[in-house]
Amino acid sequence: MTAPATRLTEEHTEYDVLVVGGGPAGLSAALNLGRSLARVLVVDADRPRNAATLRSHGFLTRDGIPPQELRRLAREELAAYPDVEVRSRTRVFALRRQGDGFAADIGRRETEATVSARAVLLASGLRESLPAVPNLRGFYGMSLFSCAACDAWELQGRRLALIGETPDIADRARLIGRWTESLTVFTHGADVVTASEEEELAAAGIAVRRQPILELRGDRGRLEEIGLVDGTAVSVDGGFVRPEWESTLSFLDGIAPSLDDSGHLLTDGSGRTDVPGLYAAGDAAAPGPQQLIVAAGAGARAAAVIVHDSIGVATAH
Ligand SMILES: Cc1cc2nc3c(=O)[nH]c(=O)nc-3n(C[C@H](O)[C@H](O)[C@H](O)COP(=O)(O)OP(=O)(O)OC[C@H]3O[C@@H](n4cnc5c(N)ncnc54)[C@H](O)[C@@H]3O)c2cc1C
Repeated sequence: MTAPATRLTEEHTEYDVLVVGGGPAGLSAALNLGRSLARVLVVDADRPRNAATLRSHGFLTRDGIPPQELRRLAREELAAYPDVEVRSRTRVFALRRQGDGFAADIGRRETEATVSARAVLLASGLRESLPAVPNLRGFYGMSLFSCAACDAWELQGRRLALIGETPDIADRARLIGRWTESLTVFTHGADVVTASEEEELAAAGIAVRRQPILELRGDRGRLEEIGLVDGTAVSVDGGFVRPEWESTLSFLDGIAPSLDDSGHLLTDGSGRTDVPGLYAAGDAAAPGPQQLIVAAGAGARAAAVIVHDSIGVATAH
Protein backbone atom coordinates (compact mmCIF):
# COMPACT_ATOMS: atom_id res chain seq x y z
CA MET A 1 0.00 0.00 0.00
CA THR A 2 1.19 3.54 -0.73
CA ALA A 3 2.28 6.33 1.59
CA PRO A 4 -0.62 8.46 2.87
CA ALA A 5 0.69 11.69 1.41
CA THR A 6 0.56 10.53 -2.24
CA ARG A 7 -1.96 12.62 -4.22
CA LEU A 8 -3.53 11.25 -7.36
CA THR A 9 -3.18 13.00 -10.68
CA GLU A 10 -4.57 12.35 -14.13
CA GLU A 11 -1.27 10.63 -14.96
CA HIS A 12 -1.70 7.83 -12.44
CA THR A 13 -2.04 4.44 -14.06
CA GLU A 14 -0.82 2.21 -11.23
CA TYR A 15 -3.07 1.39 -8.30
CA ASP A 16 -3.10 -0.93 -5.35
CA VAL A 17 -6.72 -1.82 -6.01
CA LEU A 18 -8.97 -1.42 -9.02
CA VAL A 19 -12.67 -1.53 -8.11
CA VAL A 20 -14.91 -2.38 -11.06
CA GLY A 21 -18.32 -0.84 -10.35
CA GLY A 22 -19.34 2.14 -8.21
CA GLY A 23 -22.54 0.90 -6.59
CA PRO A 24 -22.81 0.42 -2.81
CA ALA A 25 -20.46 -2.57 -2.92
CA GLY A 26 -17.69 -0.80 -4.84
CA LEU A 27 -18.02 2.57 -3.10
CA SER A 28 -18.09 1.04 0.37
CA ALA A 29 -14.97 -0.98 -0.50
CA ALA A 30 -13.28 2.17 -1.81
CA LEU A 31 -14.07 4.07 1.41
CA ASN A 32 -12.55 1.38 3.58
CA LEU A 33 -9.59 0.86 1.25
CA GLY A 34 -8.94 4.60 1.23
CA ARG A 35 -9.00 4.67 5.00
CA SER A 36 -6.39 1.89 4.90
CA LEU A 37 -4.06 4.04 2.79
CA ALA A 38 -4.54 2.04 -0.40
CA ARG A 39 -4.32 3.81 -3.74
CA VAL A 40 -7.68 2.97 -5.29
CA LEU A 41 -9.34 3.51 -8.65
CA VAL A 42 -13.11 3.00 -8.91
CA VAL A 43 -14.28 2.66 -12.50
CA ASP A 44 -18.04 2.96 -12.81
CA ALA A 45 -20.23 2.75 -15.89
CA ASP A 46 -23.03 4.40 -13.86
CA ARG A 47 -25.77 1.94 -14.80
CA PRO A 48 -27.00 0.76 -11.37
CA ARG A 49 -29.50 -2.07 -11.28
CA ASN A 50 -31.95 0.03 -9.24
CA ALA A 51 -31.86 2.99 -11.65
CA ALA A 52 -35.54 2.40 -12.48
CA THR A 53 -36.73 3.13 -8.96
CA LEU A 54 -37.38 6.54 -7.39
CA ARG A 55 -36.70 5.56 -3.77
CA SER A 56 -34.54 2.94 -2.07
CA HIS A 57 -35.63 1.37 1.17
CA GLY A 58 -34.07 -0.60 3.98
CA PHE A 59 -30.67 1.12 4.19
CA LEU A 60 -30.29 2.13 7.82
CA THR A 61 -30.31 5.96 8.20
CA ARG A 62 -31.19 6.33 4.50
CA ASP A 63 -34.61 4.66 4.24
CA GLY A 64 -36.44 6.12 1.23
CA ILE A 65 -33.43 7.81 -0.34
CA PRO A 66 -33.33 8.19 -4.17
CA PRO A 67 -30.70 5.74 -5.54
CA GLN A 68 -28.58 8.43 -7.20
CA GLU A 69 -28.56 10.47 -3.98
CA LEU A 70 -27.10 7.53 -2.07
CA ARG A 71 -24.30 7.31 -4.63
CA ARG A 72 -23.76 11.08 -4.59
CA LEU A 73 -23.37 11.09 -0.81
CA ALA A 74 -20.94 8.19 -0.99
CA ARG A 75 -18.82 9.90 -3.63
CA GLU A 76 -18.84 13.10 -1.58
CA GLU A 77 -17.42 11.16 1.36
CA LEU A 78 -14.79 9.54 -0.84
CA ALA A 79 -13.60 12.96 -1.97
CA ALA A 80 -12.01 13.37 1.48
CA TYR A 81 -9.57 10.55 0.69
CA PRO A 82 -6.81 11.74 -1.62
CA ASP A 83 -5.77 8.27 -2.71
CA VAL A 84 -9.24 7.26 -3.90
CA GLU A 85 -10.14 8.19 -7.45
CA VAL A 86 -13.59 7.60 -8.94
CA ARG A 87 -14.06 7.65 -12.70
CA SER A 88 -17.75 7.93 -13.51
CA ARG A 89 -19.47 6.98 -16.78
CA THR A 90 -16.36 4.94 -17.50
CA ARG A 91 -16.25 1.25 -18.26
CA VAL A 92 -13.68 -1.51 -17.88
CA PHE A 93 -13.57 -3.01 -21.35
CA ALA A 94 -10.99 -5.72 -20.62
CA LEU A 95 -9.31 -7.08 -17.50
CA ARG A 96 -6.35 -9.40 -17.84
CA ARG A 97 -3.42 -10.78 -15.86
CA GLN A 98 -0.21 -8.76 -15.80
CA GLY A 99 2.54 -10.38 -13.77
CA ASP A 100 1.18 -11.00 -10.25
CA GLY A 101 -1.42 -8.28 -10.74
CA PHE A 102 -3.85 -7.10 -13.40
CA ALA A 103 -4.14 -4.68 -16.31
CA ALA A 104 -7.42 -3.09 -17.34
CA ASP A 105 -8.45 -1.20 -20.47
CA ILE A 106 -10.81 1.59 -19.43
CA GLY A 107 -12.63 4.44 -21.13
CA ARG A 108 -16.00 6.00 -21.89
CA ARG A 109 -17.01 4.78 -25.35
CA GLU A 110 -13.79 2.96 -26.10
CA THR A 111 -10.44 2.23 -24.45
CA GLU A 112 -8.74 5.49 -23.51
CA ALA A 113 -6.21 4.23 -20.97
CA THR A 114 -4.72 1.06 -19.56
CA VAL A 115 -4.26 0.94 -15.81
CA SER A 116 -2.64 -1.66 -13.60
CA ALA A 117 -3.50 -2.84 -10.12
CA ARG A 118 -2.20 -5.40 -7.67
CA ALA A 119 -5.70 -6.48 -6.73
CA VAL A 120 -9.11 -6.13 -8.35
CA LEU A 121 -12.53 -6.05 -6.71
CA LEU A 122 -15.37 -7.05 -9.03
CA ALA A 123 -18.41 -5.07 -7.87
CA SER A 124 -20.07 -4.74 -11.25
CA GLY A 125 -23.53 -5.92 -10.17
CA LEU A 126 -25.88 -7.72 -12.51
CA ARG A 127 -27.89 -7.11 -15.61
CA GLU A 128 -31.52 -8.07 -15.29
CA SER A 129 -34.01 -9.09 -17.95
CA LEU A 130 -37.73 -8.77 -17.30
CA PRO A 131 -40.48 -10.94 -18.81
CA ALA A 132 -41.38 -9.77 -22.31
CA VAL A 133 -44.70 -8.22 -21.29
CA PRO A 134 -45.85 -5.17 -23.28
CA ASN A 135 -45.64 -1.89 -21.27
CA LEU A 136 -43.95 -3.54 -18.28
CA ARG A 137 -40.97 -1.15 -18.28
CA GLY A 138 -43.37 1.78 -17.93
CA PHE A 139 -44.36 0.59 -14.44
CA TYR A 140 -41.11 -0.95 -13.22
CA GLY A 141 -39.65 0.86 -10.24
CA MET A 142 -42.81 2.92 -9.71
CA SER A 143 -45.60 0.48 -8.86
CA LEU A 144 -44.05 -2.79 -10.01
CA PHE A 145 -40.95 -3.98 -8.18
CA SER A 146 -38.68 -7.01 -7.98
CA CYS A 147 -37.52 -7.02 -4.35
CA ALA A 148 -40.17 -7.75 -1.72
CA ALA A 149 -37.94 -6.76 1.22
CA CYS A 150 -37.25 -3.42 -0.51
CA ASP A 151 -40.71 -2.36 -1.63
CA ALA A 152 -43.54 -4.54 -0.24
CA TRP A 153 -44.06 -2.34 2.83
CA GLU A 154 -45.39 0.49 0.64
CA LEU A 155 -47.77 -1.94 -1.13
CA GLN A 156 -49.10 -3.77 1.91
CA GLY A 157 -52.81 -4.57 1.98
CA ARG A 158 -53.26 -3.64 -1.72
CA ARG A 159 -54.43 -5.77 -4.65
CA LEU A 160 -51.14 -7.06 -6.03
CA ALA A 161 -49.88 -8.90 -9.10
CA LEU A 162 -46.85 -11.15 -9.27
CA ILE A 163 -45.58 -11.61 -12.83
CA GLY A 164 -42.94 -14.24 -13.49
CA GLU A 165 -41.83 -17.10 -15.71
CA THR A 166 -39.31 -18.72 -13.36
CA PRO A 167 -39.76 -22.06 -11.55
CA ASP A 168 -39.54 -20.37 -8.13
CA ILE A 169 -42.62 -18.23 -8.77
CA ALA A 170 -44.86 -20.17 -6.34
CA ASP A 171 -42.32 -19.58 -3.54
CA ARG A 172 -42.19 -15.88 -4.41
CA ALA A 173 -45.99 -15.78 -4.25
CA ARG A 174 -45.94 -17.27 -0.76
CA LEU A 175 -43.42 -14.61 0.28
CA ILE A 176 -45.36 -11.68 -1.18
CA GLY A 177 -48.56 -13.09 0.32
CA ARG A 178 -47.10 -11.95 3.64
CA TRP A 179 -47.95 -8.34 2.75
CA THR A 180 -51.40 -8.75 1.15
CA GLU A 181 -54.47 -10.93 1.12
CA SER A 182 -55.16 -10.09 -2.53
CA LEU A 183 -52.46 -11.55 -4.75
CA THR A 184 -52.71 -12.93 -8.29
CA VAL A 185 -49.82 -14.75 -9.96
CA PHE A 186 -49.43 -14.23 -13.73
CA THR A 187 -47.18 -16.78 -15.44
CA HIS A 188 -47.50 -15.14 -18.89
CA GLY A 189 -48.00 -18.53 -20.55
CA ALA A 190 -44.98 -20.22 -18.91
CA ASP A 191 -45.57 -23.66 -17.42
CA VAL A 192 -43.92 -22.87 -14.07
CA VAL A 193 -46.60 -23.58 -11.45
CA THR A 194 -47.35 -27.25 -10.81
CA ALA A 195 -50.89 -28.44 -10.08
CA SER A 196 -50.01 -29.13 -6.44
CA GLU A 197 -48.40 -25.67 -6.07
CA GLU A 198 -51.53 -24.11 -7.54
CA GLU A 199 -53.65 -25.98 -4.97
CA GLU A 200 -51.41 -24.79 -2.13
CA LEU A 201 -51.57 -21.21 -3.40
CA ALA A 202 -55.35 -21.40 -3.75
CA ALA A 203 -55.56 -22.59 -0.13
CA ALA A 204 -53.64 -19.45 0.84
CA GLY A 205 -56.05 -17.29 -1.19
CA ILE A 206 -53.58 -16.69 -4.05
CA ALA A 207 -54.98 -17.02 -7.60
CA VAL A 208 -52.93 -18.17 -10.60
CA ARG A 209 -53.61 -16.86 -14.13
CA ARG A 210 -51.71 -18.87 -16.74
CA GLN A 211 -52.70 -17.02 -19.93
CA PRO A 212 -50.17 -14.77 -21.68
CA ILE A 213 -50.51 -11.12 -20.71
CA LEU A 214 -51.75 -8.84 -23.48
CA GLU A 215 -50.67 -5.60 -21.81
CA LEU A 216 -50.34 -3.73 -18.54
CA ARG A 217 -52.63 -0.74 -18.11
CA GLY A 218 -52.38 2.24 -15.81
CA ASP A 219 -51.50 5.87 -15.54
CA ARG A 220 -48.09 7.56 -15.17
CA GLY A 221 -46.36 4.51 -13.73
CA ARG A 222 -49.28 3.49 -11.53
CA LEU A 223 -50.37 -0.04 -12.47
CA GLU A 224 -54.16 -0.45 -12.52
CA GLU A 225 -55.02 -3.46 -14.64
CA ILE A 226 -53.50 -6.53 -16.24
CA GLY A 227 -55.13 -7.45 -19.54
CA LEU A 228 -54.83 -11.08 -20.68
CA VAL A 229 -54.97 -12.46 -24.22
CA ASP A 230 -58.33 -14.15 -23.53
CA GLY A 231 -59.87 -10.68 -23.20
CA THR A 232 -60.24 -10.78 -19.41
CA ALA A 233 -58.54 -8.29 -17.10
CA VAL A 234 -57.57 -8.22 -13.42
CA SER A 235 -57.62 -4.95 -11.46
CA VAL A 236 -54.55 -4.38 -9.28
CA ASP A 237 -52.87 -1.54 -7.38
CA GLY A 238 -49.28 -2.62 -8.09
CA GLY A 239 -47.14 -5.67 -7.76
CA PHE A 240 -43.93 -7.53 -8.30
CA VAL A 241 -42.11 -9.07 -11.22
CA ARG A 242 -39.53 -11.85 -11.13
CA PRO A 243 -36.55 -10.92 -13.33
CA GLU A 244 -33.81 -13.18 -14.57
CA TRP A 245 -30.21 -12.11 -14.15
CA GLU A 246 -27.11 -12.34 -16.24
CA SER A 247 -23.58 -11.52 -15.21
CA THR A 248 -21.73 -8.41 -16.38
CA LEU A 249 -18.38 -10.17 -16.53
CA SER A 250 -17.78 -10.34 -20.28
CA PHE A 251 -14.82 -7.97 -19.79
CA LEU A 252 -12.76 -10.73 -18.14
CA ASP A 253 -10.03 -11.57 -20.62
CA GLY A 254 -8.26 -14.87 -19.95
CA ILE A 255 -9.31 -14.81 -16.29
CA ALA A 256 -11.86 -17.43 -15.31
CA PRO A 257 -12.97 -17.31 -11.66
CA SER A 258 -15.45 -20.00 -10.62
CA LEU A 259 -19.11 -19.09 -10.95
CA ASP A 260 -22.25 -20.67 -9.56
CA ASP A 261 -24.95 -22.08 -11.87
CA SER A 262 -26.50 -18.63 -12.24
CA GLY A 263 -23.25 -16.90 -13.19
CA HIS A 264 -22.52 -15.27 -9.82
CA LEU A 265 -18.90 -15.18 -8.69
CA LEU A 266 -18.11 -17.79 -6.08
CA THR A 267 -16.09 -16.51 -3.13
CA ASP A 268 -14.76 -17.93 0.11
CA GLY A 269 -17.42 -15.91 1.97
CA SER A 270 -14.99 -13.05 2.59
CA GLY A 271 -14.78 -11.82 -0.97
CA ARG A 272 -11.85 -13.87 -2.32
CA THR A 273 -12.52 -15.60 -5.64
CA ASP A 274 -10.39 -18.59 -6.60
CA VAL A 275 -8.16 -16.35 -8.76
CA PRO A 276 -5.39 -14.90 -6.57
CA GLY A 277 -5.77 -11.14 -6.18
CA LEU A 278 -9.30 -11.13 -7.61
CA TYR A 279 -12.15 -10.33 -5.19
CA ALA A 280 -15.93 -9.95 -5.55
CA ALA A 281 -18.69 -8.21 -3.61
CA GLY A 282 -22.32 -7.19 -3.99
CA ASP A 283 -24.86 -8.52 -6.47
CA ALA A 284 -22.10 -9.86 -8.76
CA ALA A 285 -21.05 -12.39 -6.12
CA ALA A 286 -22.95 -15.53 -5.09
CA PRO A 287 -25.66 -15.91 -3.90
CA GLY A 288 -26.64 -13.05 -6.23
CA PRO A 289 -28.93 -10.06 -5.96
CA GLN A 290 -29.70 -8.85 -2.46
CA GLN A 291 -29.92 -5.35 -1.04
CA LEU A 292 -27.98 -2.11 -0.95
CA ILE A 293 -26.89 -2.46 2.65
CA VAL A 294 -25.84 -6.08 2.11
CA ALA A 295 -23.77 -5.02 -0.92
CA ALA A 296 -22.19 -2.19 1.07
CA GLY A 297 -21.35 -4.60 3.90
CA ALA A 298 -19.81 -7.08 1.48
CA GLY A 299 -17.72 -4.29 -0.03
CA ALA A 300 -16.43 -3.26 3.40
CA ARG A 301 -15.58 -6.86 4.26
CA ALA A 302 -13.77 -7.41 0.95
CA ALA A 303 -11.77 -4.21 1.52
CA ALA A 304 -10.50 -5.51 4.87
CA VAL A 305 -9.57 -8.84 3.31
CA ILE A 306 -7.71 -7.15 0.44
CA VAL A 307 -5.69 -5.03 2.89
CA HIS A 308 -4.88 -8.01 5.10
CA ASP A 309 -3.96 -10.20 2.11
CA SER A 310 -1.66 -7.49 0.75
CA ILE A 311 0.51 -7.71 3.84
CA GLY A 312 -0.02 -11.41 4.47
CA VAL A 313 -1.80 -11.25 7.83
CA ALA A 314 -4.94 -13.08 8.90
CA THR A 315 -8.23 -11.23 8.46
CA ALA A 316 -9.66 -11.55 11.98
CA HIS A 317 -10.04 -8.00 13.34
C1 LIG B 1 -35.94 -1.73 -9.33
C2 LIG B 1 -35.05 -2.08 -8.18
C3 LIG B 1 -35.29 -1.53 -6.94
C4 LIG B 1 -34.47 -1.84 -5.86
N1 LIG B 1 -34.76 -1.27 -4.66
C5 LIG B 1 -33.97 -1.53 -3.62
C6 LIG B 1 -34.26 -0.96 -2.34
O1 LIG B 1 -35.24 -0.23 -2.17
N2 LIG B 1 -33.44 -1.28 -1.30
C7 LIG B 1 -32.37 -2.11 -1.45
O2 LIG B 1 -31.67 -2.34 -0.46
N3 LIG B 1 -32.06 -2.66 -2.64
C8 LIG B 1 -32.83 -2.39 -3.73
N4 LIG B 1 -32.55 -2.96 -4.93
C9 LIG B 1 -31.37 -3.85 -5.04
C10 LIG B 1 -30.09 -3.01 -5.14
O3 LIG B 1 -30.22 -2.08 -6.19
C11 LIG B 1 -28.88 -3.92 -5.37
O4 LIG B 1 -28.85 -4.98 -4.45
C12 LIG B 1 -27.59 -3.10 -5.24
O5 LIG B 1 -27.61 -2.01 -6.16
C13 LIG B 1 -26.36 -3.96 -5.47
O6 LIG B 1 -25.23 -3.15 -5.37
P1 LIG B 1 -23.91 -3.46 -6.21
O7 LIG B 1 -22.93 -2.42 -5.79
O8 LIG B 1 -23.54 -4.88 -6.10
O9 LIG B 1 -24.34 -3.26 -7.75
P2 LIG B 1 -24.93 -2.00 -8.50
O10 LIG B 1 -25.58 -1.05 -7.58
O11 LIG B 1 -25.76 -2.54 -9.62
O12 LIG B 1 -23.65 -1.28 -9.10
C14 LIG B 1 -22.83 -1.91 -10.05
C15 LIG B 1 -22.17 -0.84 -10.88
O13 LIG B 1 -21.15 -1.46 -11.68
C16 LIG B 1 -21.18 -0.83 -12.94
N5 LIG B 1 -20.53 -1.70 -13.93
C17 LIG B 1 -20.97 -2.88 -14.46
N6 LIG B 1 -20.07 -3.35 -15.35
C18 LIG B 1 -19.04 -2.45 -15.38
C19 LIG B 1 -17.82 -2.36 -16.11
N7 LIG B 1 -17.46 -3.31 -16.99
N8 LIG B 1 -17.03 -1.29 -15.90
C20 LIG B 1 -17.39 -0.32 -15.00
N9 LIG B 1 -18.52 -0.35 -14.28
C21 LIG B 1 -19.33 -1.40 -14.48
C22 LIG B 1 -22.66 -0.60 -13.21
O14 LIG B 1 -22.87 0.37 -14.23
C23 LIG B 1 -23.13 -0.13 -11.84
O15 LIG B 1 -23.02 1.27 -11.69
C24 LIG B 1 -33.36 -2.70 -6.03
C25 LIG B 1 -33.11 -3.27 -7.29
C26 LIG B 1 -33.94 -2.97 -8.35
C27 LIG B 1 -33.66 -3.60 -9.67
